[in-house]
Amino acid sequence: MKVLVINAGSSSIKYQLFEMPSKEVIAKGLLERIGEQDSNLSHKHNGSEYKTKKYVPDHTAGMSLILETLVDTDNPTIEDISQIRAVGHRVVHGGEEFTGSCLIDENVIASIEKFADLAPLHNPPNLVGIVAAIENLPGAVQVACFDTAFHASIPKTAYLYALPYEIYEKYRVRRYGFHGTSHNYVARRAAELEGKKFEDINTITCHLGNGCSIAAVKAGKSIDTSMGFTPLEGVVMGTRSGDFDPAILFYLAEKGYSISDLNDMCNKQSGLLGISGSSNDMRNLCDLADSGDERAILAIDIFAYRIRKYVGAYTAALGSVDTIVFTGGIGENNSGLREKICGNLTQIGVEIDEQKNANVIRKEGVINTDSSRIRVYVIPTDEEGVIAEDTYRLAGEKV
Ligand code: ADP
Repeated sequence: MKVLVINAGSSSIKYQLFEMPSKEVIAKGLLERIGEQDSNLSHKHNGSEYKTKKYVPDHTAGMSLILETLVDTDNPTIEDISQIRAVGHRVVHGGEEFTGSCLIDENVIASIEKFADLAPLHNPPNLVGIVAAIENLPGAVQVACFDTAFHASIPKTAYLYALPYEIYEKYRVRRYGFHGTSHNYVARRAAELEGKKFEDINTITCHLGNGCSIAAVKAGKSIDTSMGFTPLEGVVMGTRSGDFDPAILFYLAEKGYSISDLNDMCNKQSGLLGISGSSNDMRNLCDLADSGDERAILAIDIFAYRIRKYVGAYTAALGSVDTIVFTGGIGENNSGLREKICGNLTQIGVEIDEQKNANVIRKEGVINTDSSRIRVYVIPTDEEGVIAEDTYRLAGEKV
């Protein structure tokens, strides 16, 4: 069965076409700059990359272009789009309603729309992607996979903020957590690598990409995570601040900053970019740090320090830790940062093997010494693969 996985952003659609159940990726691509004159599609299939540049006015037209590309007679990935029997959609916010992936119907669409209030940057484009897929592939089963779902198991002691209780009751202001598909996948995979059942191990998962979050996974369930009501909370990210004293916002508001200035500052001008003043990209910062740039060095040090604090906190939350996992662009590729983060964790039983660590780049592997009590893994994340599996499973129940 061919399953198409869609991740629709505000001006982009990322996609992967899977053969299921083998999980073979038959094609993948990225359509960017939707709505601009020079929208461009990069499509990869059979080891080659095909690029198209043309005006794509909206997501529905974008989906059409992707489907046309899949059946392009010069380079067909599939013979007919009717071979796509199911489409899995990444949806960022499922509120308190969705604790797992589900088939999309009118009620689900209405709920995703309702939660746009909680995730105004993400849910609307996700929904546009769903509508575009339904329009272009009316015969296919549509499935929604939520970033928040894996964190639905977080207990109230960890998800409730110490604000007046009615703020939660009235507005559902609480910790939701994000990157759930990734944390779920890598924690599950760590259990497999340990030769144990998911229910039998405790893991701290560090998803370190442009957005970063840490999760505490106890006996197969997320019990806490660093991102909160929005993806802004937690560790330092590419352009997001992570945790800070909210009174700073009141102080700056009194100095004349508007709500939208502050929102922009915290989400787009802070984090690694804000501290370094030069880049949100860890590769650039590492190059700058190597050349002695003090602000880049500081940004990297703060980034690592704050993650280490979360690892310490989640060790306490879990009671005992069997494995720590690094994933995401930084977690998978940057051995220097992994070493920096774990450097001071010998007290809790983490010892990194320098050589093993240096050798595990963009691949699965173990990076701790033989005497380390906690095993430390690098596990490339596979959010699309998880979405394909969930979609295949749910579609199987329907077709
Ligand atoms: P996103 O959250 O947008 O999916 P990624 O998971 O791709 O982002 O992570 C982006 C981050 O990973 C950037 O800071 C980038 O510098 C870093 N990164 C990606 N590839 C490498 C690499 N080969 N070496 C070091 N850092 C990398």
